[in-house]
Amino acid sequence: MVKETALYDILGVPPTADDAQIKKAYRVNALKYHPDKNQHSPEAAEKFKDVSHAYEILSDSQKREIYDRYGEEGLQGGGDMGGMNGASAEALFSQFFGGGGGGFGGMFGAGGRPSGPRRSRDIVHSLRVRLEDLYKGKISKLALTRSKTCDKCEGKGGKDGAVKRCTTCNGTGSVTYQRGMGHIIQQFQSACRDCKGEGEIIKDKDRCKQCMGKKTINEKKVLEVHIDKGMANGQKITFKEQGDEGPDILPGDVIFVIDEQPHERFTRKRDDLYYHAKVDLLTALAGGSIAIQHLDNEWLKVDIIPGEVIAPGTLKVIEGRGMPSYRHHNHGDLYVEFEVEFPAKDFTTPEKLALLETILPARPALGLPADAMVDDVVLSDVDPSHQRAAGAMDEDEDEDEPGTERAQCTTQ
Ligand SMILES: [Zn+2]
Ligand SMILES: [Zn+2]
Repeated sequence: MVKETALYDILGVPPTADDAQIKKAYRVNALKYHPDKNQHSPEAAEKFKDVSHAYEILSDSQKREIYDRYGEEGLQGGGDMGGMNGASAEALFSQFFGGGGGGFGGMFGAGGRPSGPRRSRDIVHSLRVRLEDLYKGKISKLALTRSKTCDKCEGKGGKDGAVKRCTTCNGTGSVTYQRGMGHIIQQFQSACRDCKGEGEIIKDKDRCKQCMGKKTINEKKVLEVHIDKGMANGQKITFKEQGDEGPDILPGDVIFVIDEQPHERFTRKRDDLYYHAKVDLLTALAGGSIAIQHLDNEWLKVDIIPGEVIAPGTLKVIEGRGMPSYRHHNHGDLYVEFEVEFPAKDFTTPEKLALLETILPARPALGLPADAMVDDVVLSDVDPSHQRAAGAMDEDEDEDEPGTERAQCTTQ
């Protein structure tokens, strides 16, 4: 529902018209009533200005929203948005049809931005999401406190007629006074004492009992945030007009920004997943299977073919088992990077080593130059405490915070 339809009527479109329809209607009407085509017709000149004004408002989503809610009245107040003069209309026309001159300076005149109802700031929240939830999709319920126009007094602060404009400050909320200091007269401005800077006075007995005259109340609201499959870090989920509202203040949006949490098993790169698999030496050489627990808790049994020879650092891929893509849900790939785990020391009995000598390829030659000076040295085990003191070890401290199901958001 729109408050009034006058601007739509001028263009001859319904209030449900989309941007393309509005654009087209302006094109047709602006060409029809352009002064160049209608010389000596004051009627056409007026019509041209009206058409330009209507388009200027309806082509700007923010202005259109204000007009739909509050009508032409909402667009006035400051600046010169009430109508359009011939020069501004001409500037808009030439801007639209690609002629020279015009531009924004001409369109908005000296008045600058329209000063209709203000819009409250958008409220932006970071939303921690587990990779599992981005894989499977999830609905999170988030409680939000926001200010809302008091429904009992409809934002008036009291009974009808109870709210009086403060006569001391004439409703501005501030007073200026002058003080002479010798020959100099200084001018000061301060908050009006009679109305405490509000610009209005309400008798205590007439004050709205619900908002105590503040005109707004706090409302707790639960928002259902739909985390769709395949959403990515930094992606925004917007709730239109759920921000703070007040009399003459349009609510801004509430925006959740996805903060993808690091995962203990998988790393995500766009729609692909990376998994670090440990495989024993026998399986790496002679084949076998490894198991991967996927994000939906399904297990993948991955077969390694005998003789494939998985060397440390080998990268393989399981096609179609990565993340679902956003909206389309076709899956990326799952990359598996192998780490080969060698048998422990107690495996290396002389008999087994002798057996290996007969199986494995022979040792390559050492390749020392014939004239090399050679010093024989041995390897020792590293003393970890010694190494740490040298600052060579990085300690990873991963904070594990188990699933934050309900985040509490409070706005003020
Ligand atoms: Zn109230
Ligand atoms: Zn006052």
